[in-house]
Amino acid sequence: MSENLTISLRSIQHYMYCPRRYALLELNRDWNENAFVVKANLLHEHVHDGSHSYSDSRKIVRSDVTVYRDGADYDLQGVLDCVEFVRSKDGVPIPGLEGTFLVRIIEYKPKAPKGEPFHETDAIQVYAQKLCADAVWGTDCECFLYYADIRRRVRLPFDTDAAKYAALLGHLLDGMQKILASGTIPERVKGQKCSGCSIADLCFPKEKSYSVRREIMLQKEGK
Ligand code: SF4
Repeated sequence: MSENLTISLRSIQHYMYCPRRYALLELNRDWNENAFVVKANLLHEHVHDGSHSYSDSRKIVRSDVTVYRDGADYDLQGVLDCVEFVRSKDGVPIPGLEGTFLVRIIEYKPKAPKGEPFHETDAIQVYAQKLCADAVWGTDCECFLYYADIRRRVRLPFDTDAAKYAALLGHLLDGMQKILASGTIPERVKGQKCSGCSIADLCFPKEKSYSVRREIMLQKEGK
C-alpha cells in the first residue's frame, strides 16, 4: 500500500464541495475570495483572535488549537475553532493543565441551516476534527456546531452514528489521496453547482472562442 499524504482538515470541505476545487487549491495553490469566503473567514478570525480563550471554575476554553492524527488509519492535521476542557473526575489529564477534563469541540458556522439541525457535510468535517482530538488527548470528545446567526450550538450524534461518519469520511479521504498521489486535476463533475465558487474564474478562464475572421483580420493588420 502506498504511503498516505497528510490531509488538512479544512480541505475536506473543499473536496466535498467540488473535487476539482480541492485539486486546484491543493495542487495548483489557486485561491480567490468571494463574499461567502470572506464572511466565513471573518467569523473564524474573530474566533481565533484569542478573545474566546478564558477559564473559570468549571472549564478552560481555548481557541485556535492545532491537532493532528498520524496513525496508519488516518493522516490528518488542522486547527480547531474552539475546545472546551470541562473539569470532571471522569475526564482525562490534559498536558499543561491541572486536573482531569472532558473535552468538547465547537466548530463555528455563520448561518444555521433551514429544515435540518445541521448539514451532513459540516458533521463530516467535525468528525475528522474529533478523530484528531481523540488521538491527541486520548479521549472521546463531544462535538458541537455553533451557529453565529442564532447564537445556538447543536450537538453532533457521534456517540450513536460514529460508524456512518467513519465510512463517509473514509470514502472522501480515499478520493483526496488519489488526487494528491496522481497530481491530476479532475474534470468538473456533471451537475456541479458553481455559482458560489470563489475560484470559478481560475477554474474556467474566460477565453475568446476561436474565430477565423478575427485571425484573418489580425494577420492583415500585421499582428
Ligand atoms: S467553478 Fe465549479 S467546477 Fe470549478 S472549482 Fe468551482 S465549483 Fe468546481
